[in-house]
Amino acid sequence: MSKSAVTSTIDLSAEGRLVGDLRVKWSDNTNPLGYHPVPIISLKRGAGPVILMIGGTHGDEFEGPSALMRLVDDLSLEDITGQVIIIPGLNAPAVRLSSRVSPLDNVNLNRAFPGNPAGSISEQIAYYVETELFPMADAAVDLHSGGKASVFAACTLATRTKDADLYARNLELAKQFGLPLVWVLGGFNDSRSLNSAAERAGVPMIATELGGGGGVDPEITNKTEAGLHAIMSFTGVLAGKTTPVEKPRLVEIKSADHSLHADTEGVFDRMASAGQIVKAGQVAGRLHCVSEPKRASQTVLFPHDGYVLAHTNRGYVSRGEMLMLVVQEVG
Ligand SMILES: [Zn+2]
Repeated sequence: MSKSAVTSTIDLSAEGRLVGDLRVKWSDNTNPLGYHPVPIISLKRGAGPVILMIGGTHGDEFEGPSALMRLVDDLSLEDITGQVIIIPGLNAPAVRLSSRVSPLDNVNLNRAFPGNPAGSISEQIAYYVETELFPMADAAVDLHSGGKASVFAACTLATRTKDADLYARNLELAKQFGLPLVWVLGGFNDSRSLNSAAERAGVPMIATELGGGGGVDPEITNKTEAGLHAIMSFTGVLAGKTTPVEKPRLVEIKSADHSLHADTEGVFDRMASAGQIVKAGQVAGRLHCVSEPKRASQTVLFPHDGYVLAHTNRGYVSRGEMLMLVVQEVG
């Protein structure tokens, strides 16, 4: 395996509170001879577990980066046993533009794993996380939201890994995080995601979907901050007790047929929301052909019973766009 070309300005094996950059070389018009910085913060004190906390894998999802920066501001080194590594904006060029994908290579970082040390900027970042950070970590958190395009019922994601013991540890972390809704990622998980990188490394990991819309929801960000504290206490990095959710609602995508996509372009006049339980035949909304008003509006129905995990945040939708992501109870 080749060594990552990404370098860190801080020594991640060193004790103390260190703030620096990962330097990613990607010569383009914006930065021909320099490096692209990805900020990284390490708090390390003594022997103990190493927790990796990541936000901004997609650059238009901001509740996670906000909660992580609160930790950077508020955590004292004296409180830590072990190490916390925080990367508030992993896809830094995308975060600065509020863009889901990198503006430099148009790559979705959560589809770039395991990455490539000689690849594009996103592939290099993915490779560094896969080969340098995951081998150090005892647990990992990757904070996502719905972004500009969608709004999720705030939930924690646990990957149902092939290793049953690792799945149990993922599920335990999800309960500890404290949100009452847990999305179990099964067969629909993508091998190019950060979740899959954690599975390959055998590291227990949770992700989140924290609302969305491309802004920062104060209530969800408070819960995220509390969840991160709970994970740190559970793993022993912080002192204190946690109160896990004993019986969260567990949902999964059993069939892609339950979800709704636009059959035609137009304005989606939405009549259901993320977090709602729906019945087969219930109206999800209407699609209005505002560009061709002689065409009748189309009523969109839910084909099956289910739980709306996410709805589109777009007004005008294109054919093929997701309107409603509908999941089922695990069972
Ligand atoms: Zn995301």
